[in-house]
Amino acid sequence: MSEPLLAIESVHVSYGRVQAVRDVSIEVPEGGLVALIGANGAGKSSVLAAAAGLVRPKSGAVRLDGRDITRWPAHRRVAAGLVLVPEGRQILGSLTVAENLRLGAYRRRRQAAPEAEMYDLFPVLAERRSLPAGSLSGGEQQMLAIARAMIARPRVMLLDEPSMGLAPKVVDEVFAAIEQIRRAGVTVVLVEQNARRALRTADTAHVMETGGTAHSGPAEELLSDPRVVKAYLGVD
Ligand code: ATP
Repeated sequence: MSEPLLAIESVHVSYGRVQAVRDVSIEVPEGGLVALIGANGAGKSSVLAAAAGLVRPKSGAVRLDGRDITRWPAHRRVAAGLVLVPEGRQILGSLTVAENLRLGAYRRRRQAAPEAEMYDLFPVLAERRSLPAGSLSGGEQQMLAIARAMIARPRVMLLDEPSMGLAPKVVDEVFAAIEQIRRAGVTVVLVEQNARRALRTADTAHVMETGGTAHSGPAEELLSDPRVVKAYLGVD
């Protein structure tokens, strides 16, 4: 099998005495969509933080395209095409939609996509381009956060809880946007509370429990795995 585009290898993450991630390994093939699901505090965001370079793992390695990037600072990873869309979106509310997009492009300079491409991808942002980002709805802000990452022409997008706090109809729009990102050829790691939606979208998935990986496999199989159904899916 060919080398995964992103590989997280036996990563451990601690915050002081709190061990947040214990021996987690995840392989993400180019063009793949891998989901991480599990309860609050299971360590999902910490795995993304280690991949993005926001925390330094205590041990283990992160590889991008075979290169060991474990010690690279976050900005160097962005320049290499590994971008994080953090939980809570972190858009700048007083800046306009267009200005937020330009901030995403800034980090990639000449390699960045034209702003117009983002408006084609997310037409709702085109209509709102001159408005302060803070005036957008939660769903529109999530689209903006995704577009701000997409404008950097990422190879891998790490998406942390994109559907959090959104109404069901808006969650549909966010998942439609994730499908579009994928069609654009971007490899995705998706952390989601909405386990069923995540498993329906992903190729493979890992279920995290108290810092470790409890179950891993093709997303379709996990959707019908009685242990996963009982703990994370409940009744439809
Ligand atoms: P959530 O869905 O709530 O974000 P999660 O599965 O993403 O949960 P993490 O946010 O990675 O889990 O948290 C894993 C553990 O690490 C938790 O016990 C959490 O309290 C702890 N933790 C996370 N960030 C920090 C931090 N900056 N300092 C100390 N402890 C932290």
